[in-house]
Amino acid sequence: MTYPGDLSRFGEDGGRMAEMIDVACDRCGTVSQQLDGATMLGFNPRCLECGTETFVSLVELYAVDKPGLDPASDEAWHLRKSRIPDLAGICNNCGGTFSIDAPIRCAHCRSRNVSILLVGSAC
Ligand SMILES: [Zn+2]
Ligand SMILES: [Zn+2]
Repeated sequence: MTYPGDLSRFGEDGGRMAEMIDVACDRCGTVSQQLDGATMLGFNPRCLECGTETFVSLVELYAVDKPGLDPASDEAWHLRKSRIPDLAGICNNCGGTFSIDAPIRCAHCRSRNVSILLVGSAC
């Protein structure tokens, strides 16, 4: 299965490709492994309030492309990116909204006071 366009476009405006990262909490000391960024299958937006991850597949994103729009254009990618919070819905955990730009939090205490230890690419 192939998709038009290139996920690395998200790198042009601050996004990154997916990486497995170790997140070390400076508050409670918990180290959790988290996925950060987009994979070839989709995106892993985080809840803005509590940091819970969810998943939005590229299939879902492409399914609602506007007809007639060049699928590889900057505009198409911009629109897909703006739809991610809608497709992700509401956080089951706290009722918050998701964003691919949400801060990484400790998986245990949800503190934003964490250190990121890069582990490697998930692609
Ligand atoms: Zn913590
Ligand atoms: Zn939440």
